Amino acid sequence: MRIAAGMIFAGAVSLLASSAAWSQALPTKGAAAAPQAAPAPAPAPAPPPAPVSTRPPCNNPNALGIGRTVEIDTTGGPGFGFEHFKELDFLREKEVVLTFDDGPWPVNTPSVLKALAEECTTGIFFPIGKHATYYPEILKQVMAAGHSIGSHTWSHAALVNKKLTEQQRKDEIEKGFSAVKWALGGKAPAPFFRFPALQHPPEMVTYLGERNIGIFSCDLDSFDFKASKAQTIIDNVMRKVEKNGKGIILMHDFQKHTAEALPELLKRLKAGGFKVVAMRAKTPVQTLAQYDEDIVKDLKLPTVSSRPVSSVVQTISE
Ligand SMILES: [Zn+2]
Repeated sequence: MRIAAGMIFAGAVSLLASSAAWSQALPTKGAAAAPQAAPAPAPAPAPPPAPVSTRPPCNNPNALGIGRTVEIDTTGGPGFGFEHFKELDFLREKEVVLTFDDGPWPVNTPSVLKALAEECTTGIFFPIGKHATYYPEILKQVMAAGHSIGSHTWSHAALVNKKLTEQQRKDEIEKGFSAVKWALGGKAPAPFFRFPALQHPPEMVTYLGERNIGIFSCDLDSFDFKASKAQTIIDNVMRKVEKNGKGIILMHDFQKHTAEALPELLKRLKAGGFKVVAMRAKTPVQTLAQYDEDIVKDLKLPTVSSRPVSSVVQTISE
């Protein structure tokens, strides 16, 4: 798909560190507690408290680890991933970025987190806004484990669908980010966005540029959502990454087989001499207050009772 090349800012990637200490990637408590507090919240429901990193030190001496951490300045909406964006070729030979879409989801997302933790490595998660509101506690685990989190629209609508108005497309983008922020207890995620099905309507690419949100396509697609077993995913990724030599890998923490494939896949990447690059945002996304409020409205009715069911409902005869 053609896009206006002029909007992509060069020099968006800056290197933070060239060596790999696991602890370098840890967000500090100060950072977790830091600035951009949400604007005065509407009455109810209160968001869950913001997560604090509880990631343990790496105890696996043979772990895949983190080869390099880069900081991304998303001013102007740079695009990443050679399937659609060719301007920013920042990965070195044998470097990969692990990305996970469509969560958070029970069982599968926690399994992905476990596999990443065992290999002391990290990825970027692109949650669906609705899923974030269903399972905020799982998304909080993603953040607490030190991964980067962006957004993947509110409802996974295909933004190239001609039935959607321009406003509806913007709503999908903005509400997605606001939902993720709500789920994270008011802590704004990274200004990292991935279009559903990697379909890039040019006017929304421009819009994201104006909003200073980076766009993530990929270099290699695992096609994990089509795989009927974990081994297929491992084989797909290894074949493509050996051929490409490097790349941003698209996977889905939403998918059962991906969660099953990940422990072996990470070991294979390590054995193949690949190194993981962690991509961090220089600044969090600036959500729009109107959408933050919409999320809160969506999630009410503002019931104030938090009593357990056993205290509310008593069987008096049966
Ligand atoms: Zn998706």
